[in-house]
Amino acid sequence: MEKSNLTCPLYVGFEYEGKKVQEIELLRSNGVAEKVFTEKLPDKSYSWMANVLTIAVKEIAGKPIGMPAREEHLKTRGFTVPKAILAITLADVNSLMIEIHRRVWQNLIPKQECICKYCGTKMLIDIDLEKFKLSDEDEQKLGQDFSELVCDLDFGWEFQALGQKDNQKYKEYEGVVFNRFIFRPPTLGDAIRHEKYSDDTIMFWRRVALDCLIRIEAVNGDAVTQELPVEIARFIGLNLFEKYIDSADLRKVRTILREELPQIPYYYEDECINTRCKRMTPVTMEAPNFFSE
Ligand SMILES: [Zn+2]
Repeated sequence: MEKSNLTCPLYVGFEYEGKKVQEIELLRSNGVAEKVFTEKLPDKSYSWMANVLTIAVKEIAGKPIGMPAREEHLKTRGFTVPKAILAITLADVNSLMIEIHRRVWQNLIPKQECICKYCGTKMLIDIDLEKFKLSDEDEQKLGQDFSELVCDLDFGWEFQALGQKDNQKYKEYEGVVFNRFIFRPPTLGDAIRHEKYSDDTIMFWRRVALDCLIRIEAVNGDAVTQELPVEIARFIGLNLFEKYIDSADLRKVRTILREELPQIPYYYEDECINTRCKRMTPVTMEAPNFFSE
């Protein structure tokens, strides 16, 4: 395998110790990698992904990752996930899982059951991971700066200083409707921190959103009229989302955090085998089928 085949682009990218990381080189798989890739952790899918990435990634910002982890695993059967891996955005983690699978594991997943969404025909398909690619819409976004995800709320948050511990301090914000939340991209570290809530999509994303919130603004047209110190939101905690924000706005927040960043989707379209149908139907890769033996 040529070297270039092991270098994957990061569609979002991140900064680590002052260095911009826009691509990642993978190591070829070996016995330790095989063990770690296939050792899935029930209810801890993000921790498992962190293990997979640690073992598969050659280096980040000049620091070797995969080789030291493999050596540690040989000696102790375990290893520590480095901070650099936890700093990768979740969107890039999702894309990297596909890249690792197809570049150093296998690019065909044989005999996966798939149902045509038009005629209901059951098919057994060999999923071809080479066909997974960014949507045209995501292609258009490449090269943008993704460090801030701006979410303009329809209803916003009308701030009430009363009830805050130090309400005199917050008097100037009384009654102001803050209608813009600005987030940093969620990382693998954020997901692992809230992993035990990951079965409950709504609660999981609220917790991640709170951690990723970096600015709160009141906006009128193009002008930012007031900014609320973000520590107030941290102090209010999850109550912010549970008590003060309309559910339509909550949906917007979730959508921004989950869908705004470009990532390789886990499906592609293929022709239905039923000769009377033959329509293009989604072939979906289920995460639990990754890295099967
Ligand atoms: Zn069909």
